[in-house]
Amino acid sequence: MSKIVVGGVEKFSAVDFPGHLSAVVFMQGCPWKCPFCHNAPIRDIGQETDFSWDKFFEFLKTRVGKLDAVTFSGGEPLVQDCLLDIIKEVRALGFAIGLHTGGYRPEHLAKVLPFVDWVGLDIKAPFVADKYKAIVGVDHLARVLKSLDLLLASKVDFECRTTCDPRFLSIEDLKQIAKALKERGVKKYFLQKYRPIESDKTTTDDDCEHLLQDKDLLEYLNRNFTGFEVRR
Ligand code: SF4
Repeated sequence: MSKIVVGGVEKFSAVDFPGHLSAVVFMQGCPWKCPFCHNAPIRDIGQETDFSWDKFFEFLKTRVGKLDAVTFSGGEPLVQDCLLDIIKEVRALGFAIGLHTGGYRPEHLAKVLPFVDWVGLDIKAPFVADKYKAIVGVDHLARVLKSLDLLLASKVDFECRTTCDPRFLSIEDLKQIAKALKERGVKKYFLQKYRPIESDKTTTDDDCEHLLQDKDLLEYLNRNFTGFEVRR
């Protein structure tokens, strides 16, 4: 078995891989610092954990025929080089594979993509280097765009989605993102409501909803993306 560093698992989820009942593996490690991150405790790799991949793999064997997929989430799953081996092991049990990523490491995405059935690609900000950096903390927009191009060129089903944090994104920003995705040929794009992190004591529910209720934006998204919805 390959060595995988995991921050936690969800044994059953109906929402992490559209149309599938999946187990979710939250892999440790993420080089970004999104201010709305709910998984900050697993961003550093190598923290102590009593999680055993071997044990979890045994659990997965008992789920064959009951669950239909395993979704790799994070953190940022593409950080760990062993992801491909792990995906192959899980796939050999007959599970479909879902992947959540920010597109941090396109060369790794290219390797795993042939073994993945669905990808959820997080789009953090408009495709402007400074704006992207302001959210993720590093100058990685080119990587994200390369990952998006890989997905567009592949036959793998995927969606793009944006966490709508009103502290950092405006309605204009969301319009800009949507327009750029449409121009590139993306078919599925979703808005996700920001749920304030523990240290954010000032953002109100109204602030969060404000971004999700702009009539022009919603019309544009409904018109241009398949099955558009706001996820609350
Ligand atoms: S990419 Fe995900 S795990 Fe990494 S900092 Fe951003 S929200 Fe957190």
